Amino acid sequence: MRVVRETERSLTVELDDLSVTMLLDGETTMGPDCLRGPDGAYRGYAPGDLVDGRLPLPVRAFLVQGPDGCLLIDAGAGQAWHKGLGQLGAALAEAGSGPQEVTVVALTHTHIDHLSGLVDGDGGLAFPNAERVFVATEELMAFRAEPRMIPVLPRLVPLEQGDGPMPGVMAVNAPGHSPGHMAYLVEARLLIWGDLVHHPLQLAQPGLTWKYDENPDQARATRAGLFDRVLDEGWMVAGSHLPHPGIGRLERDGNAYVFHPVMR
Ligand SMILES: [Zn+2]
Repeated sequence: MRVVRETERSLTVELDDLSVTMLLDGETTMGPDCLRGPDGAYRGYAPGDLVDGRLPLPVRAFLVQGPDGCLLIDAGAGQAWHKGLGQLGAALAEAGSGPQEVTVVALTHTHIDHLSGLVDGDGGLAFPNAERVFVATEELMAFRAEPRMIPVLPRLVPLEQGDGPMPGVMAVNAPGHSPGHMAYLVEARLLIWGDLVHHPLQLAQPGLTWKYDENPDQARATRAGLFDRVLDEGWMVAGSHLPHPGIGRLERDGNAYVFHPVMR
C-alpha cells in the first residue's frame, strides 16, 4: 500500500485494484467528559491530550475508487453540526474527484457527523449519481426518522455483515457505538473501522468508552475484538476520528496500542 497523493484535506493510498482516499470533512472539539472510564468521566488527561481543555475530533470520510465505480463511505456532517465541518466537497475537489463521480454510498452508522452530508445546503441530493445508499438493517429506522434524509430514502439499501457495497469491499459487523455500526474491509487488507476509536487515548487505554456509545460495554468488546483481528490478519486501518491522516498501521504495546500513520 503506497501513498500516491496528498493534499491539505485528502490522502490517497493505492491497493491492488482499488484506491482509498481519506477526505477530511473538518475538525472540531468535544468536551473532556466525552471519554469515559469505569467511574464516569475520564480525568487522567496529560497536557497533550487536550486542545484548550477540549478533545480534538477530526471528522473523516473515505472514497474507494476502482473499475466498478466510486464508493463513498460516510458523508461528513454537512452543515448540520459543528462549525468548521462540512468541507467534504472541498476535500473531494482537492483529491481530484467530485460529487458527480460518486456512484454508491455506504454508511458506517447513522450519527450526525456521518450521514448529514448526504444532502446539500438546499436540501437536495449531494451525490446525485449515487443510486444506492447502503445502511445497516439495524439503523434503517434511525435513518428514516431523520427528516433531512427524505430525498435519500428511495435510494436506501439494507446492509448486512458480509455484504459488498462494491466488489472488493465487505461489511464487517462492529456494533456498540451504535446498534448497526459497520466497518468495511477493502481488498482484505485495509479495515475502515468508522467510530471504533474517537480519541488516541482509546488506543493507549482501549477500555475507555465514548459518551455517545449507545452500548458502551458492547463498544468496548467490539474494539478489543477488532484490534486483535487487525493484528492477526495484518490489516491496515482507517478511521473516521483517527489522527492525521486517518490511515495507518496498528501496533500492540503491552496492553496498549499505537497508531502509526501511513507515510508518503
Ligand atoms: Zn463519528
